[in-house]
Amino acid sequence: MTEYDYDLFTIGAGSGGVRASRISASYGARVAVAEERYLGGTCVNVGCIPKKLFVYASAFEEEFSDAQGFGWTVGERSHAWRSLMENKDREIDRLNGIYARLLDQAGVDRIEGRARIVDDHTVSVGDRKITAKHILVAVGGWPWVPEIPGIEHAITSNEAFHLETFPERVVIVGGGYIAVEFAGIFHGLGAEVTQLYRGELFLRGFDDDLRAALAVEMRKTGIDVRFGSNPATIEKAANGDLLVTLEDGTRIDADVVMYATGRAPLTADLGLEDANVALGPSGEILVDEYSRTSVESIWAIGDVTDRVQLTPVAIHEGMCLAATLFKGEPTKPDHENIASAVFSQPPLATVGLTEAAAREHYDAVDVYRSTFRELKHTLSGRDQKTTMKLVVDAESDRVLGAHMVGAHAAEIIQGIAIAVKCGATKAHFDATIGIHPTSAEEFVTMREPVSSGG
Ligand code: NDP
Repeated sequence: MTEYDYDLFTIGAGSGGVRASRISASYGARVAVAEERYLGGTCVNVGCIPKKLFVYASAFEEEFSDAQGFGWTVGERSHAWRSLMENKDREIDRLNGIYARLLDQAGVDRIEGRARIVDDHTVSVGDRKITAKHILVAVGGWPWVPEIPGIEHAITSNEAFHLETFPERVVIVGGGYIAVEFAGIFHGLGAEVTQLYRGELFLRGFDDDLRAALAVEMRKTGIDVRFGSNPATIEKAANGDLLVTLEDGTRIDADVVMYATGRAPLTADLGLEDANVALGPSGEILVDEYSRTSVESIWAIGDVTDRVQLTPVAIHEGMCLAATLFKGEPTKPDHENIASAVFSQPPLATVGLTEAAAREHYDAVDVYRSTFRELKHTLSGRDQKTTMKLVVDAESDRVLGAHMVGAHAAEIIQGIAIAVKCGATKAHFDATIGIHPTSAEEFVTMREPVSSGG
């Protein structure tokens, strides 16, 4: 029998790679993980975590203003970008340390450097050749930007986390999670923000009512959200100002132009082609239901497979893979009914099918929708509406989807997601007594459908 250096060699110590490595080690496997950049991957370093910290930072301005309706006098306020950056960096250093410790405590060997696949069972890191029974590719993705003249003057989310100075005028290009979230972040911290999206309505793939509701709410906060708009060129003036010329000839001046036009799998120069690992059209690694690539001993999880680009999904895929390889329990990741949130302001969260998707798959669909002003804003005076929506299969009464735009949407939908995952019916929702007074109780008190049947 061939003796390998390791049972599992993981390339990439992001959310998925670290979890797969640790859990595999806990099942008795000899594991090494190679990382060339930072422990914790995108989520910890230039994604979910610093983004959410920035969202918190940017939400205070609304709170200060809302407080006045409750009798508070709020004095002069200012924001120190540098201080936010330093505090954020300190927290990320702490998290990097935790990731290192978790791997060490699990007995996983950490290797700093870029790993390349040499063959089915061999990787190289620098001059070193290392063999493993299984190789796991969990290298994630990287911001992708279109080639337009002057694109080199634009930044992506990677750089947005490390800006030296806070920009006064920001143009954000894109209509996905990242663009919408950063529009709110920059606006809340005081920048003049223009968001440009090429299509008719941003957040393609989310429920249409929520997309429209969020556009209304974001515009009310003062963000200049423009649809059917896309940059043609970006020029840099001698004084450093950026001039964005749109496809329709409109011009916008900015200090920062940020592109959030999607993320591409980081599969270049990994040796995948040499090892005959099959890639899809966007360079994503093609895998079967167990995360196995076209090569029997090589596996892939997380963003590099471009299945669902979310940290908890990568972690889930890592847990399943560890069980498949080293626990004797072949386990397919479950990609059904994954809840997710856009940390816009107000936030948007969702689980299950949109109304449009439900209508495609089911003959008769009942839709319940409620739009209301949350109690807090009766005194704050803020003109902000919360929208909630339930999509129900009329035949079985099963709740197929739950959607929300409004304060605490992510926290609320996480709970609703358990019910949806369990196959709860509308009757179960109706039989649940609300917690009063909350916004969340609306999910169990919507009685009359706004549309019913086919
Ligand atoms: P998305 O894929 O969500 O959105 C990309 C956006 O860019 C879309 O609006 C798309 O438009 C637009 N776009 C694509 N190509 C071009 C182009 N050539 N010119 C102009 N616009 C273009 O990507 P993000 O970068 O926002 O995020 C990447 C992934 O990261 C997400 O899919 C998500 O899974 C994950 N993520 C999750 C978060 C969360 O859970 N809160 C937060 C941040 C990221 P169109 O719709 O027309 O194709």
